[in-house]
Amino acid sequence: MNILKKIQEYACRRPEQIAIRCGDSALTYGELWNYSDGLAAWFLQTQGDDRSPVAVYGHKDPWMLVCFLACVKAGRGYCPIDRSVPQTRVEMILQAVPSGVVLTTEAMTADAGTKQVLVSEELKALAEKKHPEVPETAWVSGKDTWYIIFTSGSTGTPKGVQISADCLNHYLDWSVGLGSAAEEKDGQVFLNQAPFSFDLSVMDLYTSLASGGTLYCLEKTVQSDYRLLMQSLGASNANVWVSTPSFAEVCLSEKSFSEELLPKLQVFLFCGETLGNRTVQKLQERFPKAAVVNTYGPTESTVAVTDVLVTPQMARETEPLPVGRAKPGTRIEIRDEAGTVLPDGEKGEIIILGDTVSTGYYRQEELTKKAFFEQAEGAGVIRGYHTGDKGYLEDGMLFYCGRIDLQIKLHGYRIELEDIENNIRRIPGIEHAVVLPNLRDDKVKSLTAYVVERELPKAEREEMARLKQELLQFVPDYMVPKKFVFLEQMPMTNNGKADRKKLAELGKKPERKGMV
Ligand code: AMP
Repeated sequence: MNILKKIQEYACRRPEQIAIRCGDSALTYGELWNYSDGLAAWFLQTQGDDRSPVAVYGHKDPWMLVCFLACVKAGRGYCPIDRSVPQTRVEMILQAVPSGVVLTTEAMTADAGTKQVLVSEELKALAEKKHPEVPETAWVSGKDTWYIIFTSGSTGTPKGVQISADCLNHYLDWSVGLGSAAEEKDGQVFLNQAPFSFDLSVMDLYTSLASGGTLYCLEKTVQSDYRLLMQSLGASNANVWVSTPSFAEVCLSEKSFSEELLPKLQVFLFCGETLGNRTVQKLQERFPKAAVVNTYGPTESTVAVTDVLVTPQMARETEPLPVGRAKPGTRIEIRDEAGTVLPDGEKGEIIILGDTVSTGYYRQEELTKKAFFEQAEGAGVIRGYHTGDKGYLEDGMLFYCGRIDLQIKLHGYRIELEDIENNIRRIPGIEHAVVLPNLRDDKVKSLTAYVVERELPKAEREEMARLKQELLQFVPDYMVPKKFVFLEQMPMTNNGKADRKKLAELGKKPERKGMV
């Protein structure tokens, strides 16, 4: 696929079709195409040969998309920064990308140094100016970087994952068919939960554009207010749902979240976190006509590389759920520490090889060398990525068993924290569970489970005893957490995943609420 060609085709064929709607603002395919051309022309006229990636700052605003497309039409990659990113981190990212220009759709408090900051009105004025046509030869293509998404690095400095035009196009060849045949998605409404600085948003944003759909954005203020959220969902007419499982779990706590609210919903697409059996069962009860698809992948391999349709039988009988089979163009291998490829059923590191693996971390050669590699294959070379995830294959079906770095040793026992979490989620009444180790002198002394139940228990001590007892049905006693903290809601990161850092801080406070 050539995604820019596709968008151009829709802009010609159906210029009036809404491409993106965020709150009260929307842009049609025609407007999106023309405005991004206007801004791209400005880049080409004024910024000379500087093809370095451009930071684009803001939140869910249709003009974010104008900026993204303007950059790639002018031969530059872009780096999306959501307003929820803390100021110091924004500054780190701005320093990392050398372009002299920053595009913003709203005021930015971060210091942009000597860069020229174009604010929303200026962008609009430039985009609406009469301009020469932007030649296709200027567009980002092939191995050129399309976007850079910064993810957290273990050193505390964010790493910029570079995704090329080829990677994105290969990904889209597959993602347009997720959950249903590609042509059925034509003109459909895709829900956007994730901020544009999280690669999950690529799944809804570009799959929608690639199939002539409308992206319906759920802004942060809407997501954090149940009443507004249900109202907005009800008004969306959404056909395709894309979110983290945590976000769907939040929605499920509202009774009105059901087929009546979203009668046209055809498919739930999940990625980014473990999808629990219970969550799927509840979705299947409330949305009997919608398919549930689990996908897996890291930013480093363009959003997702596997998929599986989770049937009601699978949701009942296969625990944990599989994360799917590799898409065409991708091979998954399970390797041990020595790099040996392991047979079916044996656990090891998940290695992704294929046509969506990133070209590496932006200007971070050492880190790139550690995580990525190239390997001869047939007449050519393919790229590979060490995910740091643990898993196993069964006849081509991938099962995810947590992060290698979430593996701990407690009293000599090797324990996967996510293994305990999955088992806690099997206990009746549990909506969400995260397990964290308690450290002293860098050694794990005990475990704490943070759980959300359908209702906050009144007698916490008794409830803790019940959970421990129930958990013993599934795991050995050394894996049963010593403490259970009952929460009304699981704290979530800006990306919509369970926020382990916040939980760890909560764990340090002696007066924490709901602690037993
Ligand atoms: P990110 O790069 O932020 O999208 O995070 C990628 C990581 O999220 C992966 O390396 C996995 O650890 C985790 N992940 C992604 N998809 C799934 C899934 N379907 N089930 C469990 N974990 C997942």
